[in-house]
Amino acid sequence: MFIKNVSKEICSGLSELLFPSICVVCNDLLIGPESGLCAICKHNMPYSPWHFNDQNPIVKALWGRSIITAGFHLLSYRKGSIASRVLHSIKYENQTILAENLGRNIGLRLKNSAILDNLDGVVAVPMHPKKLKFRGYNQAAVIGEGIADVIGKPLLKDLLVQSRHTQTQTLKGRVGRIENTGDKYQWNVNFSSTSLQHILLVDDVMTTGSTLQAAEYAIRRVYEAENLQVSIATLAYVF
Ligand SMILES: [Zn+2]
Repeated sequence: MFIKNVSKEICSGLSELLFPSICVVCNDLLIGPESGLCAICKHNMPYSPWHFNDQNPIVKALWGRSIITAGFHLLSYRKGSIASRVLHSIKYENQTILAENLGRNIGLRLKNSAILDNLDGVVAVPMHPKKLKFRGYNQAAVIGEGIADVIGKPLLKDLLVQSRHTQTQTLKGRVGRIENTGDKYQWNVNFSSTSLQHILLVDDVMTTGSTLQAAEYAIRRVYEAENLQVSIATLAYVF
């Protein structure tokens, strides 16, 4: 056992020497327990001043389109900012530990909110299986895992499914995104009889809100009669 542990430490040390961990924003070497972001970039991130409530800008942006109880976004996203670099890294560069840590950060800010008293669990905006196979992970689900763990509620996996493969949103204009997401998600029929009061929908970033609107719409088609509450949380909001 001793030899096994020593070998493991040597391998880990060698790997760190050959492939040192660097900050996804400034490329500085990371020290100790830092993962993905150095302490300085972490400190300098554009944290949103808005709280988790019905006046949060991500809720206001959905007024007249979705019925949202409360919303929260951790970062204010602007092109070329630290937030955009962080988003890119968790979406395309396998920064899953960073995504989960940021989810935990969101969880800490929501943890003591009375809004979550009747919460049943966290639902991540799903990724189409083809895209999931290509990417290897759904960043919204990883963020959702971090949130769920901290607030002590389950991540309700597979409740929502993506109903068809749509063109990647980064290739479309703002109007195209709104038009193309009406029937994008469906509630998994295996869970249609599940009784729920309140769920927290999670995504990595909100731009026009069309993705979260489509997810909320899919839920309402099943749960409208039961007056289900839907709240939302995102890592970033594009102003
Ligand atoms: Zn840095």
